[in-house]
Amino acid sequence: MLVRSGGHAIPQNTLKNSIQCSGIGLHSGAKVNMTLHPGAPDTGILFRRTGLPSSPVEIPATWEYAIETPLCTTLVDPAGGAKIATIEHLMSALLGCGIDNAEIELDGPEVPVMDGSAAPFVFLIECAGTLRQDAPRRVIEIMKDVSVSEPDRAIALSPGINMSVDFEIEFDSPVVARQSWSMHVNEGAYKRDISRARTFGFLHEVDRMRAMGLARGGSLDNAIVIDGDQILNPGGLRYENEFVRHKVLDLIGDLFLAGGPVIGLTRGVRAGHALTLRLLQTLFADRDAWRLRDMTEADLAYGMGAVTPPARAVAARA
Ligand SMILES: [Zn+2]
Repeated sequence: MLVRSGGHAIPQNTLKNSIQCSGIGLHSGAKVNMTLHPGAPDTGILFRRTGLPSSPVEIPATWEYAIETPLCTTLVDPAGGAKIATIEHLMSALLGCGIDNAEIELDGPEVPVMDGSAAPFVFLIECAGTLRQDAPRRVIEIMKDVSVSEPDRAIALSPGINMSVDFEIEFDSPVVARQSWSMHVNEGAYKRDISRARTFGFLHEVDRMRAMGLARGGSLDNAIVIDGDQILNPGGLRYENEFVRHKVLDLIGDLFLAGGPVIGLTRGVRAGHALTLRLLQTLFADRDAWRLRDMTEADLAYGMGAVTPPARAVAARA
């Protein structure tokens, strides 16, 4: 059943067992209990919010249900308006661990921030175990170039032979400055090179963010905090270029809102959650720009190099 011409199809995965954790929301500061449950084949990632008068409210984790919010990715229930914020690190861990189907139950408005990276979610998924399902994994294959941009930032998709990302950031900060990262997204590289990278912020912005109702739960326990040319966290950085790796972590989570792995190269320059969401809206508005198909071993087999030069040309035009 899982064989098609051109290579063996890759099966879908879900969690073997349910697993629970609790923590605080980065922006709300509220304590949240979260349980990851197995999901049926072809159901994708589904969030379920409990603890509301109208609950439970179910929201599929796809771009159609995502809204632009400052500093995080938020799902909204179009019927009742219930929201689930800061889903991107968990979505990133699920994609990075090859989980296609899961139900995520939360009793609060935001996914717990944990340590500000995806590593605690990878650990949870590994503790729950992975179960192969008798259905082929579906991918979104990019068929032509798509890009969105603003004056000083851009993000572009182009056809490619696997799921690759290439990202560059530049901050007016001597600690961050200019950093770039390219990778072929696979489970080993994700866990090793990306999952532990934490979110970050600047001390001088904390007061302004809190006045906006953001970062109320933020602390040195769940974010890298930069003050001038200093990193305030006593343990320093986990990776020398942890900042751009975290942006790649965010990008992988946001791209999963396509509904499956995106086969092609995604190249971002200073792009954030809002621009990535606009990229997905632009992609899916053009029926010729993508196709849905089964994933095969060929999608996993190649490295990064072959697709990089044309994609750089695309990004330069973006
Ligand atoms: Zn993030």
